[in-house]
Amino acid sequence: MIIIAGGGMTGLSAAHHIQASGQKYVLLEKAGALGGLCRSIRKGGYTFDWSGHLFCPREHWVISWVEELLNGDLLWFQRESCVHVKGENIPFPIQAHLGALPRPYLLECLASFLRERAQEKDSQELGTWPDWISTTFGKALAQLFFFPYHEKLWGVPLEELSAQGLEWSVPRPTVEEVVDGALGVKNPLLGYNANLSYPSNGGIEEIPKAMARELVGVYTLSSLQRVLWKQKQVVVKGFGKLSYRKLISTIPLSALLRLLEPPVEEEILAFPAPRAVSIWVLNVGIKRPSASHYHWIYFPEKEFPFFRVGCYTAFGAHLAPPGRSSFYVEIPCHVVCGLSKELMVERTLKAMVRCGILKSTGEVEIVLPVKIPVAYVIHDVSRSRWLPRVLFFLESHGIRCAGRYGAWGYGTMEHAIIQGREAAQWAVEE
Ligand SMILES: Cc1cc2nc3c(=O)[nH]c(=O)nc-3n(C[C@H](O)[C@H](O)[C@H](O)COP(=O)(O)OP(=O)(O)OC[C@H]3O[C@@H](n4cnc5c(N)ncnc54)[C@H](O)[C@@H]3O)c2cc1C
Repeated sequence: MIIIAGGGMTGLSAAHHIQASGQKYVLLEKAGALGGLCRSIRKGGYTFDWSGHLFCPREHWVISWVEELLNGDLLWFQRESCVHVKGENIPFPIQAHLGALPRPYLLECLASFLRERAQEKDSQELGTWPDWISTTFGKALAQLFFFPYHEKLWGVPLEELSAQGLEWSVPRPTVEEVVDGALGVKNPLLGYNANLSYPSNGGIEEIPKAMARELVGVYTLSSLQRVLWKQKQVVVKGFGKLSYRKLISTIPLSALLRLLEPPVEEEILAFPAPRAVSIWVLNVGIKRPSASHYHWIYFPEKEFPFFRVGCYTAFGAHLAPPGRSSFYVEIPCHVVCGLSKELMVERTLKAMVRCGILKSTGEVEIVLPVKIPVAYVIHDVSRSRWLPRVLFFLESHGIRCAGRYGAWGYGTMEHAIIQGREAAQWAVEE
């Protein structure tokens, strides 16, 4: 028997591919609904996601599979995104649009980028996150945008973070592209998420809902409580003990490690407790149409508690009632810790007025906070040493960890679909 723990995008993709192979499986999901982080909430005529999710697939088989699942009900558009800094909205990626910065910053950032590129690099190592940022983009842009943004998001000293596993997501323009950008040339196609899609009926959860439609072995409200890895058994709420030949775990690795019985620290030579950033997402509906065309805006500066604000109604007008707009506002829990939920909401809405997203707090008609306890895996410098060892150990005992949280990394919905298929291929092998 193959058991899949978790019914988010990774678990659903794994289930689909195992079912297609003709083998039996059981998918166990703790929550009452499937989709994991890709779930949506309908309230007062609005459709919010847990947090704004845009689908940005690049693999042909993923695109055609999801288009087929949704019967073509997918909107496709080009990314509209920017960085709000020094009171200006600089097109994303900022490193390719320095020309939009106030002049002193433009000159300083360009000079520092060119100085960095002129230096010979003798090491191929990525190094720490702040080192990689400074040597890739120059110290001035690091100080202006990257450092404050990442300090706010991660809430740990940046020297503790490794560039490995994060760097792939940051667009790296060539010297020519940076110089063109400094001269005012627009470069909207840089980066992995330049082309985006979103369901044209409903929210992002239409994708996992469609993935689950034909599945036969799926159980919700079925939480994995213990993993008796030596006996290859799991203890599941509502089921008792179940035996497995292979277990695919898509639940956060930090949680899986706590469920293992007996604990495994000794066997795998001690690993540090995996750390993650928790975030609050405020879903906000307002009484004004077409309030923003940005899919998301980055906020590095400390005066704003959020690191990112996006506009759902820029994805599709169907996500709000006529004459309304809606936003998702992402706030790291460590930034607002100690504040009551009411005070967090009040301060956030006031900050949205200060940066010009809202005209006044009076136009807000609905605020729906959602907490995501494990949102961003902290890529400690030691992660590249202990993670392969832990994953190898688990796999050698019939447990494959997959997905952004299962395999403890940084990834998109497309990565989840791909990793789900790879895990299924591993599981069906004898
Ligand atoms: C704020 C934010 C914004 C994002 N935006 C985008 C975006 O715009 N585009 C994009 O492509 N990606 C985005 N992502 C990434 C995307 O959400 C993930 O890559 C993807 O949803 C991961 O799916 P998953 O199935 O691996 O994990 P999850 O969605 O976390 O699913 C894991 C499942 O396991 C279940 N579970 C947990 N514990 C147990 C247990 N003990 N027993 C049984 N089940 C359990 C959970 O309930 C959950 O349903 C974003 C992520 C975040 C945090």
